[in-house]
Amino acid sequence: MLLLGSERSVTQNYNIHKDAEDYSGEHLSIIRINGRAKVTKVVNKYINHEDTINYNDYLNNHSLWRDETYYNCISITGKVVRYHQSELGGNHVELECYEGDLKIHIRLYHMAEVLVNVGDIVDSNTIIGKQGNTGLVLSKKRSSDISYGSHVHMEVLDDNYKSINPRDYATFDRAVTYREQTNIIDNSKKQIKIIVDKINIRSNPDVLSYDIGDVYNGEIYDVLGVSEDEKYTWYNIKTSLGLVGYVANEKNKIWLIVTNEEEKIEGDIKEVDDVKELKLIFTCEKDGTYAIKLKYGERLYIE
Ligand SMILES: [Zn+2]
Repeated sequence: MLLLGSERSVTQNYNIHKDAEDYSGEHLSIIRINGRAKVTKVVNKYINHEDTINYNDYLNNHSLWRDETYYNCISITGKVVRYHQSELGGNHVELECYEGDLKIHIRLYHMAEVLVNVGDIVDSNTIIGKQGNTGLVLSKKRSSDISYGSHVHMEVLDDNYKSINPRDYATFDRAVTYREQTNIIDNSKKQIKIIVDKINIRSNPDVLSYDIGDVYNGEIYDVLGVSEDEKYTWYNIKTSLGLVGYVANEKNKIWLIVTNEEEKIEGDIKEVDDVKELKLIFTCEKDGTYAIKLKYGERLYIE
Protein backbone atom coordinates (compact mmCIF):
# COMPACT_ATOMS: atom_id res chain seq x y z
CA MET A 1 0.00 0.00 0.00
CA LEU A 2 1.27 3.45 -0.90
CA LEU A 3 0.82 5.71 2.11
CA LEU A 4 2.23 9.20 2.55
CA GLY A 5 4.28 8.74 -0.58
CA SER A 6 6.12 5.53 0.33
CA GLU A 7 5.44 1.82 0.86
CA ARG A 8 3.85 1.59 4.28
CA SER A 9 1.31 -0.50 6.13
CA VAL A 10 -1.02 0.32 9.01
CA THR A 11 0.42 -0.81 12.34
CA GLN A 12 -2.11 0.80 14.65
CA ASN A 13 -5.49 1.73 13.23
CA TYR A 14 -7.62 4.75 14.05
CA ASN A 15 -10.18 2.77 16.11
CA ILE A 16 -7.46 1.53 18.45
CA HIS A 17 -5.13 4.51 18.42
CA LYS A 18 -8.11 6.93 18.64
CA ASP A 19 -6.88 10.36 17.53
CA ALA A 20 -4.26 9.08 15.10
CA GLU A 21 -3.05 6.22 12.96
CA ASP A 22 0.45 4.69 12.81
CA TYR A 23 2.16 3.48 9.66
CA SER A 24 5.26 1.35 9.34
CA GLY A 25 7.63 1.90 6.47
CA GLU A 26 11.25 1.88 5.59
CA HIS A 27 13.36 3.79 8.12
CA LEU A 28 14.38 7.19 6.64
CA SER A 29 11.91 6.79 3.76
CA ILE A 30 10.51 10.08 2.49
CA ILE A 31 7.17 11.51 3.58
CA ARG A 32 4.86 13.38 1.23
CA ILE A 33 1.21 14.43 1.18
CA ASN A 34 -1.30 14.49 -1.66
CA GLY A 35 -2.07 18.10 -2.55
CA ARG A 36 -1.01 21.48 -1.22
CA ALA A 37 -0.67 22.71 2.36
CA LYS A 38 1.04 25.36 4.41
CA VAL A 39 3.58 24.41 7.09
CA THR A 40 2.40 25.98 10.37
CA LYS A 41 4.63 24.26 12.93
CA VAL A 42 8.01 22.54 12.84
CA VAL A 43 9.92 20.79 15.61
CA ASN A 44 13.24 19.55 14.33
CA LYS A 45 15.71 19.37 17.21
CA TYR A 46 15.79 15.74 18.32
CA ILE A 47 18.44 13.27 17.19
CA ASN A 48 17.21 10.11 15.53
CA HIS A 49 17.80 6.92 17.59
CA GLU A 50 19.94 8.71 20.22
CA ASP A 51 16.89 10.65 21.53
CA THR A 52 14.39 7.80 21.09
CA ILE A 53 12.29 7.08 24.19
CA ASN A 54 10.72 3.68 24.80
CA TYR A 55 7.04 4.35 25.43
CA ASN A 56 6.86 1.84 28.33
CA ASP A 57 9.85 3.50 30.01
CA TYR A 58 7.96 6.76 29.73
CA LEU A 59 4.80 5.26 31.28
CA ASN A 60 6.81 3.82 34.18
CA ASN A 61 8.93 6.90 34.84
CA HIS A 62 7.08 9.99 33.66
CA SER A 63 6.27 11.26 37.15
CA LEU A 64 9.95 10.89 38.05
CA TRP A 65 11.09 12.51 34.81
CA ARG A 66 8.66 15.39 34.99
CA ASP A 67 10.05 18.90 35.42
CA GLU A 68 7.10 21.29 35.16
CA THR A 69 6.19 21.32 31.46
CA TYR A 70 9.24 19.23 30.50
CA TYR A 71 10.35 15.63 30.91
CA ASN A 72 13.98 14.73 31.51
CA CYS A 73 13.71 11.37 29.75
CA ILE A 74 16.29 8.59 29.53
CA SER A 75 16.56 7.51 25.91
CA ILE A 76 17.11 3.95 24.64
CA THR A 77 20.82 4.74 24.36
CA GLY A 78 20.98 5.96 27.97
CA LYS A 79 21.12 9.65 27.20
CA VAL A 80 19.13 12.23 29.19
CA VAL A 81 16.89 14.01 26.69
CA ARG A 82 14.71 16.91 27.69
CA TYR A 83 11.33 16.83 25.93
CA HIS A 84 8.69 19.50 26.26
CA GLN A 85 5.33 17.86 26.99
CA SER A 86 3.99 19.11 23.63
CA GLU A 87 6.95 17.59 21.78
CA LEU A 88 6.79 13.96 22.85
CA GLY A 89 6.02 13.17 19.20
CA GLY A 90 9.64 14.06 18.47
CA ASN A 91 10.50 15.91 15.28
CA HIS A 92 7.21 16.81 13.65
CA VAL A 93 5.30 19.12 11.37
CA GLU A 94 1.83 20.57 11.42
CA LEU A 95 0.24 21.50 8.12
CA GLU A 96 -2.80 23.62 7.37
CA CYS A 97 -4.91 22.93 4.30
CA TYR A 98 -8.45 22.71 2.99
CA GLU A 99 -10.75 20.06 1.72
CA GLY A 100 -13.48 22.04 0.01
CA ASP A 101 -14.46 24.69 2.53
CA LEU A 102 -13.29 22.62 5.48
CA LYS A 103 -10.02 23.79 6.97
CA ILE A 104 -7.97 20.87 8.28
CA HIS A 105 -4.69 20.35 10.10
CA ILE A 106 -2.35 17.42 9.48
CA ARG A 107 0.28 16.35 12.02
CA LEU A 108 3.14 14.00 11.20
CA TYR A 109 5.28 12.77 14.10
CA HIS A 110 8.54 10.96 14.92
CA MET A 111 10.52 12.12 11.91
CA ALA A 112 14.25 11.53 11.69
CA GLU A 113 14.50 14.91 10.05
CA VAL A 114 12.07 17.61 8.94
CA LEU A 115 12.96 19.16 5.59
CA VAL A 116 10.50 22.09 5.46
CA ASN A 117 10.11 25.37 7.35
CA VAL A 118 7.19 27.24 8.86
CA GLY A 119 5.44 29.25 6.14
CA ASP A 120 6.45 26.93 3.28
CA ILE A 121 3.72 25.85 0.89
CA VAL A 122 4.28 22.16 0.24
CA ASP A 123 2.78 20.08 -2.54
CA SER A 124 2.83 16.46 -3.67
CA ASN A 125 6.42 16.87 -4.92
CA THR A 126 7.76 18.23 -1.63
CA ILE A 127 9.68 15.92 0.65
CA ILE A 128 8.34 17.01 4.03
CA GLY A 129 10.71 14.86 6.02
CA LYS A 130 12.13 11.42 6.61
CA GLN A 131 10.54 8.67 8.64
CA GLY A 132 12.27 8.14 11.96
CA ASN A 133 11.99 7.27 15.64
CA THR A 134 12.31 10.56 17.58
CA GLY A 135 9.96 10.95 20.54
CA LEU A 136 8.03 8.18 22.29
CA VAL A 137 7.91 4.92 20.33
CA LEU A 138 7.44 1.23 21.07
CA SER A 139 9.41 -1.55 19.44
CA LYS A 140 10.36 -5.21 19.80
CA LYS A 141 13.71 -4.46 18.15
CA ARG A 142 16.96 -4.31 20.12
CA SER A 143 17.74 -0.81 21.40
CA SER A 144 21.00 -0.86 19.39
CA ASP A 145 18.99 -1.06 16.14
CA ILE A 146 18.91 2.43 14.61
CA SER A 147 15.47 1.73 13.11
CA TYR A 148 14.02 0.88 16.56
CA GLY A 149 10.36 1.97 16.57
CA SER A 150 10.65 3.88 13.29
CA HIS A 151 7.17 4.79 11.98
CA VAL A 152 4.91 7.65 10.90
CA HIS A 153 2.19 8.82 13.28
CA MET A 154 -0.43 10.85 11.46
CA GLU A 155 -3.27 12.96 12.82
CA VAL A 156 -5.88 14.86 10.86
CA LEU A 157 -7.94 17.48 12.71
CA ASP A 158 -10.72 19.84 11.73
CA ASP A 159 -10.56 23.54 12.54
CA ASN A 160 -11.86 22.92 16.06
CA TYR A 161 -9.01 20.41 16.51
CA LYS A 162 -11.44 17.48 16.54
CA SER A 163 -9.83 14.41 15.04
CA ILE A 164 -10.76 12.86 11.68
CA ASN A 165 -9.75 9.38 10.51
CA PRO A 166 -6.49 10.05 8.64
CA ARG A 167 -6.54 6.90 6.46
CA ASP A 168 -7.93 8.43 3.25
CA TYR A 169 -5.35 11.20 3.45
CA ALA A 170 -2.53 8.74 4.11
CA THR A 171 -3.52 6.53 1.18
CA PHE A 172 -3.67 9.56 -1.15
CA ASP A 173 -7.35 8.84 -1.89
CA ARG A 174 -8.10 12.37 -0.75
CA ALA A 175 -6.18 15.37 -1.96
CA VAL A 176 -5.97 18.57 0.04
CA THR A 177 -5.60 22.11 -1.27
CA TYR A 178 -4.20 25.27 0.19
CA ARG A 179 -5.96 28.58 -0.13
CA GLU A 180 -3.59 31.50 0.05
CA GLN A 181 -4.97 34.13 2.44
CA THR A 182 -2.19 36.64 1.95
CA ASN A 183 -2.91 39.81 -0.03
CA ILE A 184 -0.73 40.71 -2.98
CA ILE A 185 1.81 43.52 -2.72
CA ASP A 186 0.22 46.83 -3.69
CA ASN A 187 2.38 49.92 -3.29
CA SER A 188 -0.63 52.21 -3.38
CA LYS A 189 -1.98 50.69 -0.14
CA LYS A 190 -0.77 50.62 3.43
CA GLN A 191 0.25 47.03 4.08
CA ILE A 192 2.11 44.97 6.66
CA LYS A 193 4.62 42.21 6.03
CA ILE A 194 4.88 39.51 8.70
CA ILE A 195 8.51 38.77 9.66
CA VAL A 196 8.09 36.28 12.53
CA ASP A 197 6.94 32.64 12.19
CA LYS A 198 3.34 33.23 13.24
CA ILE A 199 1.00 35.84 14.78
CA ASN A 200 -2.61 35.13 15.78
CA ILE A 201 -5.46 36.99 14.11
CA ARG A 202 -7.78 38.24 16.86
CA SER A 203 -11.47 39.12 16.55
CA ASN A 204 -10.83 42.39 18.39
CA PRO A 205 -7.76 44.49 19.24
CA ASP A 206 -7.37 42.58 22.50
CA VAL A 207 -5.21 39.52 23.31
CA LEU A 208 -8.16 38.01 25.18
CA SER A 209 -10.48 38.16 22.17
CA TYR A 210 -11.11 35.13 19.92
CA ASP A 211 -8.25 33.64 17.93
CA ILE A 212 -9.77 33.50 14.43
CA GLY A 213 -6.71 32.53 12.41
CA ASP A 214 -3.00 33.06 11.97
CA VAL A 215 -0.66 35.00 9.72
CA TYR A 216 2.76 33.65 8.74
CA ASN A 217 6.25 34.79 7.89
CA GLY A 218 6.51 36.55 4.54
CA GLU A 219 2.78 37.20 4.13
CA ILE A 220 1.44 40.63 3.20
CA TYR A 221 -1.82 42.12 4.46
CA ASP A 222 -3.81 45.23 3.61
CA VAL A 223 -4.23 47.50 6.65
CA LEU A 224 -7.71 48.94 7.23
CA GLY A 225 -6.79 50.76 10.42
CA VAL A 226 -4.29 50.98 13.27
CA SER A 227 -4.87 51.33 17.00
CA GLU A 228 -2.66 51.21 20.06
CA ASP A 229 -2.89 50.05 23.62
CA GLU A 230 -0.19 50.06 26.31
CA LYS A 231 1.56 46.95 25.07
CA TYR A 232 0.63 46.49 21.42
CA THR A 233 0.05 48.22 18.14
CA TRP A 234 -2.97 46.58 16.48
CA TYR A 235 -3.38 46.34 12.72
CA ASN A 236 -6.88 45.74 11.42
CA ILE A 237 -6.42 43.51 8.36
CA LYS A 238 -8.53 41.87 5.70
CA THR A 239 -7.21 38.67 4.14
CA SER A 240 -7.76 37.67 0.51
CA LEU A 241 -10.28 35.09 1.81
CA GLY A 242 -12.32 37.95 3.31
CA LEU A 243 -11.42 37.35 6.97
CA VAL A 244 -11.28 40.61 8.92
CA GLY A 245 -9.38 40.72 12.20
CA TYR A 246 -6.56 42.21 14.21
CA VAL A 247 -2.84 41.43 14.21
CA ALA A 248 -0.66 42.71 17.04
CA ASN A 249 2.89 43.97 17.11
CA GLU A 250 4.28 44.16 20.64
CA LYS A 251 5.86 47.55 21.23
CA ASN A 252 9.68 47.55 21.12
CA LYS A 253 9.60 44.26 19.19
CA ILE A 254 9.50 43.77 15.45
CA TRP A 255 7.00 41.08 14.48
CA LEU A 256 6.01 42.83 11.25
CA ILE A 257 7.00 45.78 9.11
CA VAL A 258 4.71 48.38 7.68
CA THR A 259 5.26 48.98 4.00
CA ASN A 260 4.67 52.37 2.43
CA GLU A 261 4.91 54.26 5.68
CA GLU A 262 6.96 57.17 4.49
CA GLU A 263 6.21 59.41 7.44
CA LYS A 264 8.35 57.22 9.71
CA ILE A 265 11.43 57.37 7.51
CA GLU A 266 14.35 59.15 9.15
CA GLY A 267 16.77 61.60 7.59
CA ASP A 268 16.90 63.15 4.16
CA ILE A 269 16.87 61.36 0.87
CA LYS A 270 20.15 62.21 -0.82
CA GLU A 271 20.95 62.29 -4.47
CA VAL A 272 23.29 59.48 -5.38
CA ASP A 273 26.47 60.68 -7.09
CA ASP A 274 27.47 59.02 -10.26
CA VAL A 275 30.44 57.39 -8.55
CA LYS A 276 33.21 55.53 -10.23
CA GLU A 277 34.60 54.28 -6.95
CA LEU A 278 33.33 53.69 -3.42
CA LYS A 279 32.32 56.96 -1.84
CA LEU A 280 30.52 57.83 1.38
CA ILE A 281 27.15 59.32 0.54
CA PHE A 282 25.29 59.24 3.81
CA THR A 283 25.93 58.92 7.55
CA CYS A 284 23.23 57.61 9.87
CA GLU A 285 22.83 60.09 12.69
CA LYS A 286 20.77 57.73 14.86
CA ASP A 287 19.24 54.27 14.73
CA GLY A 288 16.08 54.11 12.69
CA THR A 289 14.51 53.09 9.42
CA TYR A 290 16.12 54.85 6.50
CA ALA A 291 15.01 54.86 2.90
CA ILE A 292 17.11 55.47 -0.15
CA LYS A 293 15.45 56.07 -3.46
CA LEU A 294 17.44 54.86 -6.41
CA LYS A 295 16.87 55.38 -10.10
CA TYR A 296 17.19 52.55 -12.58
CA GLY A 297 20.82 51.62 -13.08
CA GLU A 298 22.10 53.46 -10.02
CA ARG A 299 24.28 51.60 -7.57
CA LEU A 300 24.27 51.61 -3.81
CA TYR A 301 27.33 50.95 -1.68
CA ILE A 302 26.76 50.03 1.93
CA GLU A 303 29.51 50.16 4.50
ZN1 LIG B 1 0.94 6.92 17.00
